Amino acid sequence: MNIGFIGLGNMGLPMAINLLKAGYQVTGFDLVQSQLDAFAKEGGKTVANANDAAKNVDVLISMLPASRHVEGLYLGDSGLLANTYPQTILVDCSTISPKVAQAVASAAQAKGFEMVDAPVSGGTAGAQAGTLTFMVGGQQSAVERIRPLLEKMGKNIFHAGANGAGQTVKVCNNMLLGIQMLGTCEALRLGIANGMDPKILSDIMSKSSGRNWALELYNPCPGVMDNVPSSKDYAGGFGVDLMLKDMGLATENAEALEASVPLGKLAQQLYEAHSKAGYGQLDFSSVFNLK
Ligand code: NAD
Repeated sequence: MNIGFIGLGNMGLPMAINLLKAGYQVTGFDLVQSQLDAFAKEGGKTVANANDAAKNVDVLISMLPASRHVEGLYLGDSGLLANTYPQTILVDCSTISPKVAQAVASAAQAKGFEMVDAPVSGGTAGAQAGTLTFMVGGQQSAVERIRPLLEKMGKNIFHAGANGAGQTVKVCNNMLLGIQMLGTCEALRLGIANGMDPKILSDIMSKSSGRNWALELYNPCPGVMDNVPSSKDYAGGFGVDLMLKDMGLATENAEALEASVPLGKLAQQLYEAHSKAGYGQLDFSSVFNLK
């Protein structure tokens, strides 16, 4: 199976490398030269534009920042739908608006393509280890055809429902993650203000009812855990601006459906303040330092 991979960033690069390791032929493209170089160093083939990455491949995977990048990649006269053979299955792993995912998939289906939305959870560590969770929206037949491929990058592959359903699950999940990270930071800060060792505090809360993913696997306090962004000056990982984007997806979605998400709205404001203070490119756990 030949694969095209567009978007070799913090997530896309390790995902594409896992496909190479599994023996697939992978042709990669990114707008940033250093990302192309890193992929070539691992034995990946690189090309100079997106349409070349999608040429003669069985599956085309995209892993881009936000809705507008995905629309730009697939739609329009120079987009992939106008320049790729419909035999190619299209798999968008970016986290984007469920509405945009549905619109792009409809445009793809109108041209004879099978397309799924397949956002992921598990962070850059999960991408490197090949243990991501995939939340897939689309037709069962397309999901089953790409399942063996997704299993090379992830451990849990869920078919959430029709096109857009993968994104809906992802938006709900990340709203919860964003809120939990802020709560975890507050609890740690309060303990530290009381003179507690953050490691002891984290160990105890991790075995108590406050346990959660941010506390146990992605601790935001520097020095508590190795190999997490907080212990690397909050470099890499999942950017504040990407979390802010996901909070925006959640609150916009909630407004359109008149669903009540007061904590989601408050969390969005806090990530926005942190981004505006100049920390948008740091990992989202740096919100630990929000004053
Ligand atoms: P990133 O910014 O590190 O990578 C995105 C890459 O896409 C960049 O290298 C950029 O140059 C490239 N790009 C943008 N437009 C392009 C185009 N038109 N053609 C080719 N390349 C293009 O972001 P990331 O952390 O890898 O996240 C990617 C997506 O995955 C986002 O939607 C994010 O919300 C989601 N996500 C991230 C994490 C995480 O922990 N980082 C976890 C789960 C989901």
